[in-house]
Amino acid sequence: MAKQDYYTTLGVERGASADEMKKSYRKLAMQFHPDRNPGDAKAEAKFKEINEAYDVLKDDQKRAAYDRFGHAAFEQGGGGAGGFGAGFGGGGLGDIFEQVFGDFMGGRGGGRPRTGQDIHVKAEIELTEAFAGVELPLRVPTRVSCDACSGSGAEAGKRANDTCPTCGGAGKVRAQQGFFVVERGCPTCGGSGRVIRNPCKICGGQGTVQRERQLKVKVPAGVEEGQRIRLQGEGEAGPQGVANGDLYVHVALRPHPIFARDGANLFFKLPIRMTQAALGAEVEVPVIDGSRTRLKIAPGTRTGTTQRMRGKGFSVVRSAARGDMFVQIEVETPQNLTAQQRALLEEFEAEASRDHSPEHEGFFAKVREFFDGGK
Ligand SMILES: [Zn+2]
Ligand SMILES: [Zn+2]
Repeated sequence: MAKQDYYTTLGVERGASADEMKKSYRKLAMQFHPDRNPGDAKAEAKFKEINEAYDVLKDDQKRAAYDRFGHAAFEQGGGGAGGFGAGFGGGGLGDIFEQVFGDFMGGRGGGRPRTGQDIHVKAEIELTEAFAGVELPLRVPTRVSCDACSGSGAEAGKRANDTCPTCGGAGKVRAQQGFFVVERGCPTCGGSGRVIRNPCKICGGQGTVQRERQLKVKVPAGVEEGQRIRLQGEGEAGPQGVANGDLYVHVALRPHPIFARDGANLFFKLPIRMTQAALGAEVEVPVIDGSRTRLKIAPGTRTGTTQRMRGKGFSVVRSAARGDMFVQIEVETPQNLTAQQRALLEEFEAEASRDHSPEHEGFFAKVREFFDGGK
Protein backbone atom coordinates (compact mmCIF):
# COMPACT_ATOMS: atom_id res chain seq x y z
CA MET A 1 0.00 0.00 0.00
CA ALA A 2 1.32 3.41 -0.91
CA LYS A 3 2.14 5.54 2.07
CA GLN A 4 -0.05 8.56 2.59
CA ASP A 5 1.38 12.00 1.95
CA TYR A 6 2.62 13.51 5.22
CA TYR A 7 0.75 16.74 4.63
CA THR A 8 -2.47 14.82 4.06
CA THR A 9 -1.81 12.79 7.21
CA LEU A 10 -1.48 16.03 9.16
CA GLY A 11 -4.49 17.56 7.42
CA VAL A 12 -2.61 20.64 6.23
CA GLU A 13 -1.74 22.25 2.90
CA ARG A 14 1.75 21.77 1.45
CA GLY A 15 2.77 25.33 2.25
CA ALA A 16 1.44 25.21 5.80
CA SER A 17 3.30 27.25 8.40
CA ALA A 18 4.95 25.64 11.42
CA ASP A 19 2.17 27.00 13.62
CA GLU A 20 -0.58 25.58 11.45
CA MET A 21 1.06 22.18 11.47
CA LYS A 22 1.60 22.22 15.20
CA LYS A 23 -2.04 23.09 15.79
CA SER A 24 -3.32 20.43 13.47
CA TYR A 25 -0.87 17.91 14.86
CA ARG A 26 -1.94 18.50 18.42
CA LYS A 27 -5.59 18.19 17.57
CA LEU A 28 -5.08 14.90 15.73
CA ALA A 29 -2.65 13.48 18.25
CA MET A 30 -5.06 14.17 21.08
CA GLN A 31 -7.87 12.57 19.10
CA PHE A 32 -5.97 9.40 18.27
CA HIS A 33 -3.83 9.04 21.37
CA PRO A 34 -3.88 5.41 22.57
CA ASP A 35 -4.93 6.47 26.07
CA ARG A 36 -8.09 7.84 24.58
CA ASN A 37 -8.67 4.83 22.37
CA PRO A 38 -7.78 1.85 24.52
CA GLY A 39 -7.50 -1.36 22.52
CA ASP A 40 -8.15 0.39 19.24
CA ALA A 41 -5.34 -0.76 16.92
CA LYS A 42 -6.46 1.50 14.10
CA ALA A 43 -6.25 4.57 16.27
CA GLU A 44 -2.81 3.54 17.45
CA ALA A 45 -1.60 3.07 13.87
CA LYS A 46 -3.04 6.44 12.95
CA PHE A 47 -1.38 8.01 15.96
CA LYS A 48 1.97 6.63 14.84
CA GLU A 49 1.46 7.93 11.32
CA ILE A 50 0.61 11.37 12.62
CA ASN A 51 3.73 11.41 14.76
CA GLU A 52 5.91 10.24 11.94
CA ALA A 53 4.54 12.91 9.61
CA TYR A 54 4.98 15.63 12.18
CA ASP A 55 8.45 14.48 13.13
CA VAL A 56 9.51 15.10 9.53
CA LEU A 57 7.57 18.24 8.73
CA LYS A 58 8.44 20.11 11.92
CA ASP A 59 12.12 19.90 11.04
CA ASP A 60 13.08 22.38 8.31
CA GLN A 61 15.79 20.16 6.86
CA LYS A 62 13.73 16.99 6.88
CA ARG A 63 10.78 18.89 5.47
CA ALA A 64 12.87 20.25 2.60
CA ALA A 65 14.14 16.72 1.89
CA TYR A 66 10.60 15.38 1.98
CA ASP A 67 9.36 18.12 -0.35
CA ARG A 68 12.04 17.18 -2.85
CA PHE A 69 12.19 13.41 -2.60
CA GLY A 70 8.95 12.38 -0.90
CA HIS A 71 9.00 9.28 1.28
CA ALA A 72 12.09 8.08 -0.57
CA ALA A 73 14.07 10.61 1.47
CA PHE A 74 13.59 8.50 4.60
CA GLU A 75 13.64 4.96 3.36
CA GLN A 76 16.34 2.76 4.83
CA GLY A 77 19.30 2.64 2.53
CA GLY A 78 17.69 4.85 -0.10
CA GLY A 79 19.83 7.84 0.54
CA GLY A 80 18.02 10.49 -1.46
CA ALA A 81 18.80 13.10 1.10
CA GLY A 82 21.71 11.54 2.87
CA GLY A 83 20.47 9.47 5.75
CA PHE A 84 17.86 11.54 7.45
CA GLY A 85 16.04 8.27 7.92
CA ALA A 86 18.52 6.97 10.43
CA GLY A 87 17.20 6.61 13.94
CA PHE A 88 13.74 7.38 12.75
CA GLY A 89 10.71 5.76 14.29
CA GLY A 90 12.76 4.50 17.19
CA GLY A 91 11.71 5.20 20.73
CA GLY A 92 8.36 4.30 22.18
CA LEU A 93 5.17 6.20 21.97
CA GLY A 94 5.91 7.56 25.36
CA ASP A 95 9.03 9.32 24.15
CA ILE A 96 7.33 10.96 21.24
CA PHE A 97 4.46 12.01 23.38
CA GLU A 98 6.69 13.41 26.04
CA GLN A 99 8.75 15.40 23.59
CA VAL A 100 5.93 17.09 21.85
CA PHE A 101 3.42 17.46 24.60
CA GLY A 102 5.86 18.20 27.33
CA ASP A 103 5.58 21.91 26.89
CA PHE A 104 1.87 22.13 27.33
CA MET A 105 0.97 18.94 29.14
CA GLY A 106 3.29 19.81 31.93
CA GLY A 107 6.25 17.68 31.06
CA ARG A 108 7.75 14.89 33.07
CA GLY A 109 8.45 16.49 36.37
CA GLY A 110 6.05 19.23 37.19
CA GLY A 111 3.48 21.56 35.82
CA ARG A 112 5.83 24.32 34.76
CA PRO A 113 7.06 25.16 31.30
CA ARG A 114 10.69 24.03 31.15
CA THR A 115 12.15 27.01 29.33
CA GLY A 116 11.30 30.40 27.90
CA GLN A 117 10.59 30.69 24.19
CA ASP A 118 13.31 29.95 21.65
CA ILE A 119 14.19 32.76 19.27
CA HIS A 120 15.06 32.26 15.62
CA VAL A 121 16.91 34.90 13.64
CA LYS A 122 18.33 34.90 10.14
CA ALA A 123 21.82 36.28 9.54
CA GLU A 124 22.97 37.06 6.00
CA ILE A 125 26.72 37.10 5.59
CA GLU A 126 29.23 37.53 2.78
CA LEU A 127 31.02 34.54 1.32
CA THR A 128 34.33 36.02 2.50
CA GLU A 129 32.94 36.17 6.05
CA ALA A 130 31.83 32.56 5.84
CA PHE A 131 35.32 31.69 4.67
CA ALA A 132 37.15 33.37 7.53
CA GLY A 133 34.47 33.13 10.20
CA VAL A 134 32.94 36.27 11.62
CA GLU A 135 31.65 37.72 14.83
CA LEU A 136 28.25 39.17 14.05
CA PRO A 137 26.56 41.83 16.10
CA LEU A 138 22.88 40.94 16.42
CA ARG A 139 19.97 42.95 17.69
CA VAL A 140 17.39 40.53 18.91
CA PRO A 141 13.91 41.49 20.11
CA THR A 142 13.35 39.31 23.14
CA ARG A 143 11.87 39.10 26.60
CA VAL A 144 14.18 39.58 29.53
CA SER A 145 13.63 39.21 33.23
CA CYS A 146 11.88 42.26 34.72
CA ASP A 147 14.25 44.37 36.81
CA ALA A 148 11.51 45.94 38.94
CA CYS A 149 10.41 42.62 40.43
CA SER A 150 13.58 40.59 39.73
CA GLY A 151 11.45 38.35 37.55
CA SER A 152 9.07 37.33 40.30
CA GLY A 153 6.11 39.16 38.78
CA ALA A 154 5.12 40.45 42.22
CA GLU A 155 5.25 44.09 43.26
CA ALA A 156 8.30 44.81 45.36
CA GLY A 157 7.71 45.02 49.09
CA LYS A 158 4.23 43.56 48.94
CA ARG A 159 3.24 40.05 49.83
CA ALA A 160 4.22 38.04 46.82
CA ASN A 161 2.47 34.81 46.15
CA ASP A 162 -0.48 32.79 47.16
CA THR A 163 -0.94 29.15 46.50
CA CYS A 164 -3.03 28.75 43.37
CA PRO A 165 -6.63 28.10 44.36
CA THR A 166 -7.34 26.02 41.24
CA CYS A 167 -4.62 23.41 41.56
CA GLY A 168 -3.70 23.81 45.21
CA GLY A 169 -0.09 24.46 44.26
CA ALA A 170 0.43 21.32 42.19
CA GLY A 171 0.55 23.22 38.89
CA LYS A 172 -1.50 20.49 37.26
CA VAL A 173 -5.15 19.70 37.10
CA ARG A 174 -6.82 16.38 36.37
CA ALA A 175 -10.02 15.99 34.48
CA GLN A 176 -12.13 12.92 33.86
CA GLN A 177 -12.59 12.37 30.14
CA GLY A 178 -14.58 9.29 29.30
CA PHE A 179 -12.81 6.31 30.81
CA PHE A 180 -9.59 7.93 31.77
CA VAL A 181 -8.07 10.89 33.47
CA VAL A 182 -6.24 13.59 31.59
CA GLU A 183 -3.68 15.64 33.41
CA ARG A 184 -2.74 19.04 32.12
CA GLY A 185 -1.11 22.28 33.15
CA CYS A 186 -3.21 24.43 35.44
CA PRO A 187 -4.94 27.18 33.44
CA THR A 188 -5.05 29.60 36.36
CA CYS A 189 -1.39 29.69 37.36
CA GLY A 190 0.12 28.48 34.08
CA GLY A 191 1.72 25.57 35.92
CA SER A 192 3.67 27.53 38.51
CA GLY A 193 1.38 26.50 41.37
CA ARG A 194 1.21 30.02 42.63
CA VAL A 195 -0.78 33.10 41.84
CA ILE A 196 0.53 36.60 42.29
CA ARG A 197 -1.27 38.61 44.85
CA ASN A 198 0.13 42.04 43.95
CA PRO A 199 1.32 41.94 40.37
CA CYS A 200 4.37 44.04 39.46
CA LYS A 201 3.24 47.25 37.76
CA ILE A 202 6.09 47.23 35.26
CA CYS A 203 5.63 43.76 33.78
CA GLY A 204 2.00 43.22 34.74
CA GLY A 205 2.94 40.15 36.76
CA GLN A 206 4.60 38.32 33.91
CA GLY A 207 8.09 38.60 35.34
CA THR A 208 9.51 39.46 31.91
CA VAL A 209 9.53 42.56 29.75
CA GLN A 210 10.00 43.10 26.00
CA ARG A 211 13.50 44.33 25.21
CA GLU A 212 15.95 44.45 22.36
CA ARG A 213 19.15 42.65 23.22
CA GLN A 214 22.49 43.16 21.56
CA LEU A 215 24.50 40.04 21.12
CA LYS A 216 27.63 38.92 19.39
CA VAL A 217 27.44 35.65 17.55
CA LYS A 218 30.52 33.76 16.45
CA VAL A 219 29.96 32.27 13.02
CA PRO A 220 32.59 29.58 12.41
CA ALA A 221 34.79 29.58 9.32
CA GLY A 222 33.43 27.21 6.69
CA VAL A 223 29.78 27.67 7.65
CA GLU A 224 27.33 26.42 5.03
CA GLU A 225 24.19 28.03 3.69
CA GLY A 226 21.24 27.11 5.91
CA GLN A 227 23.28 25.99 8.90
CA ARG A 228 22.00 27.08 12.26
CA ILE A 229 23.97 28.09 15.26
CA ARG A 230 22.43 27.43 18.65
CA LEU A 231 23.15 29.72 21.53
CA GLN A 232 21.93 27.95 24.59
CA GLY A 233 20.09 30.11 27.07
CA GLU A 234 20.12 33.19 24.85
CA GLY A 235 16.43 32.91 24.02
CA GLU A 236 13.56 34.54 25.86
CA ALA A 237 13.35 34.56 29.61
CA GLY A 238 10.46 32.51 30.91
CA PRO A 239 8.46 32.84 34.10
CA GLN A 240 10.47 33.07 37.28
CA GLY A 241 12.73 30.16 38.03
CA VAL A 242 12.61 28.75 34.54
CA ALA A 243 15.61 28.53 32.23
CA ASN A 244 15.83 30.85 29.25
CA GLY A 245 14.97 29.52 25.82
CA ASP A 246 17.65 29.16 23.17
CA LEU A 247 18.59 31.45 20.32
CA TYR A 248 18.99 29.96 16.88
CA VAL A 249 20.86 31.88 14.21
CA HIS A 250 20.11 30.64 10.71
CA VAL A 251 22.95 31.48 8.36
CA ALA A 252 22.33 32.62 4.79
CA LEU A 253 25.15 33.43 2.36
CA ARG A 254 25.06 36.32 -0.10
CA PRO A 255 26.09 35.37 -3.63
CA HIS A 256 29.64 36.42 -4.51
CA PRO A 257 30.41 38.31 -7.76
CA ILE A 258 33.40 36.06 -8.58
CA PHE A 259 33.30 32.83 -6.63
CA ALA A 260 30.70 30.11 -6.64
CA ARG A 261 30.90 27.58 -3.84
CA ASP A 262 30.17 23.91 -3.54
CA GLY A 263 31.02 22.70 -0.07
CA ALA A 264 34.76 23.16 0.39
CA ASN A 265 35.43 23.88 -3.27
CA LEU A 266 35.29 27.17 -5.14
CA PHE A 267 34.75 27.81 -8.82
CA PHE A 268 35.17 30.77 -11.08
CA LYS A 269 35.51 31.61 -14.75
CA LEU A 270 38.67 33.30 -15.95
CA PRO A 271 38.45 35.13 -19.29
CA ILE A 272 41.77 35.17 -21.19
CA ARG A 273 42.76 36.51 -24.60
CA MET A 274 43.08 34.08 -27.47
CA THR A 275 46.74 35.02 -27.83
CA GLN A 276 47.34 34.08 -24.18
CA ALA A 277 45.56 30.79 -24.81
CA ALA A 278 47.71 30.11 -27.87
CA LEU A 279 51.05 31.33 -26.55
CA GLY A 280 50.63 30.40 -22.91
CA ALA A 281 50.70 32.93 -20.11
CA GLU A 282 50.88 33.47 -16.41
CA VAL A 283 47.99 35.46 -14.95
CA GLU A 284 47.16 36.72 -11.52
CA VAL A 285 43.98 35.29 -10.00
CA PRO A 286 42.14 36.22 -6.80
CA VAL A 287 41.87 33.87 -3.82
CA ILE A 288 38.92 33.90 -1.39
CA ASP A 289 41.25 34.74 1.52
CA GLY A 290 41.95 38.11 -0.11
CA SER A 291 45.38 37.18 -1.45
CA ARG A 292 46.44 36.78 -5.07
CA THR A 293 48.12 33.88 -6.71
CA ARG A 294 49.54 33.17 -10.16
CA LEU A 295 48.06 30.67 -12.53
CA LYS A 296 50.11 29.21 -15.38
CA ILE A 297 48.25 28.78 -18.63
CA ALA A 298 49.85 26.26 -20.93
CA PRO A 299 50.36 27.15 -24.61
CA GLY A 300 47.43 25.84 -26.64
CA THR A 301 44.91 25.93 -23.76
CA ARG A 302 41.35 25.41 -24.93
CA THR A 303 38.31 27.29 -23.79
CA GLY A 304 36.40 25.40 -21.09
CA THR A 305 39.56 23.86 -19.64
CA THR A 306 39.41 23.70 -15.87
CA GLN A 307 42.50 24.10 -13.76
CA ARG A 308 42.56 22.93 -10.19
CA MET A 309 44.44 24.89 -7.56
CA ARG A 310 44.79 22.69 -4.52
CA GLY A 311 44.26 24.16 -1.10
CA LYS A 312 43.00 27.47 -2.45
CA GLY A 313 39.36 26.63 -1.86
CA PHE A 314 36.94 27.16 0.99
CA SER A 315 37.51 26.51 4.66
CA VAL A 316 36.05 23.50 6.43
CA VAL A 317 34.24 23.88 9.76
CA ARG A 318 36.36 22.84 12.76
CA SER A 319 39.30 21.93 10.56
CA ALA A 320 42.44 23.50 9.20
CA ALA A 321 41.80 21.85 5.85
CA ARG A 322 40.85 23.79 2.77
CA GLY A 323 39.15 22.70 -0.40
CA ASP A 324 40.37 23.43 -3.91
CA MET A 325 39.77 26.26 -6.33
CA PHE A 326 38.69 25.35 -9.84
CA VAL A 327 39.41 27.93 -12.49
CA GLN A 328 37.55 27.53 -15.73
CA ILE A 329 39.31 29.14 -18.67
CA GLU A 330 37.22 31.10 -21.14
CA VAL A 331 39.03 32.17 -24.28
CA GLU A 332 37.68 35.47 -25.53
CA THR A 333 37.29 36.05 -29.24
CA PRO A 334 38.59 39.58 -29.95
CA GLN A 335 36.04 42.10 -31.11
CA ASN A 336 36.23 45.71 -32.34
CA LEU A 337 39.72 45.26 -33.75
CA THR A 338 42.02 48.21 -34.31
CA ALA A 339 43.55 48.53 -37.76
CA GLN A 340 46.84 47.20 -36.50
CA GLN A 341 45.25 44.22 -34.76
CA ARG A 342 43.35 43.44 -37.91
CA ALA A 343 46.53 43.58 -40.00
CA LEU A 344 48.35 41.32 -37.57
CA LEU A 345 45.54 38.81 -37.48
CA GLU A 346 45.24 38.78 -41.26
CA GLU A 347 48.92 38.04 -41.43
CA PHE A 348 48.43 35.28 -38.87
CA GLU A 349 45.51 33.82 -40.82
CA ALA A 350 47.55 33.80 -44.07
CA GLU A 351 50.31 31.96 -42.24
CA ALA A 352 47.93 29.59 -40.40
CA SER A 353 46.11 28.57 -43.58
CA ARG A 354 49.42 27.45 -45.04
CA ASP A 355 50.59 25.86 -41.86
CA HIS A 356 48.90 23.15 -39.88
CA SER A 357 45.96 23.46 -37.58
CA PRO A 358 45.23 19.89 -36.54
CA GLU A 359 41.53 20.01 -35.73
CA HIS A 360 40.70 22.23 -38.64
CA GLU A 361 42.49 19.92 -41.06
CA GLY A 362 41.06 16.83 -39.48
CA PHE A 363 37.58 18.21 -39.90
CA PHE A 364 38.03 19.06 -43.57
CA ALA A 365 39.57 15.65 -44.25
CA LYS A 366 36.31 14.20 -42.95
CA VAL A 367 34.30 16.56 -45.12
CA ARG A 368 36.20 15.44 -48.22
CA GLU A 369 35.65 11.82 -47.27
CA PHE A 370 31.97 12.54 -46.78
CA PHE A 371 31.57 13.93 -50.28
CA ASP A 372 33.78 11.30 -51.93
CA GLY A 373 32.06 8.49 -50.03
CA GLY A 374 28.68 9.78 -51.24
CA LYS A 375 29.48 9.13 -54.92
ZN1 LIG B 1 -2.76 26.44 39.53
ZN1 LIG C 1 8.01 42.96 37.05
